[in-house]
Amino acid sequence: MNDGYTLDRPQSLSCPDCGGTLSTHKVGGFRQYQCHIGHVFSTEVLLAAQFARLEERLGGALASLNERAELCRRMADAASKDGRDATSFQAAAAECLERAQTLRHLLQSEWTRLHM
Ligand SMILES: [Zn+2]
Repeated sequence: MNDGYTLDRPQSLSCPDCGGTLSTHKVGGFRQYQCHIGHVFSTEVLLAAQFARLEERLGGALASLNERAELCRRMADAASKDGRDATSFQAAAAECLERAQTLRHLLQSEWTRLHM
């Protein structure tokens, strides 16, 4: 599909509430992160909010794959009823479900717990 994905080190971090760029400040010896519209996070809160956002996005991707599989199944059923070839819809549905399983395992696996 796309060979252009990279995992370069991000130049900045994003606000988990609005997606704006976060700047870092030290306040009373503690690191604080603030976006340009005023959302402020301690490191501990940012870690928790960032993880919640990650789970939400992965969950959204899982739902999208599951819904695409369902649409492909419905299209396969309709093609079969009409006497048309349904194999590409069936293959696409199976592909979506296989990829959804990968995401499902990722969501259900244990993540490193961070204690500050
Ligand atoms: Zn923000």
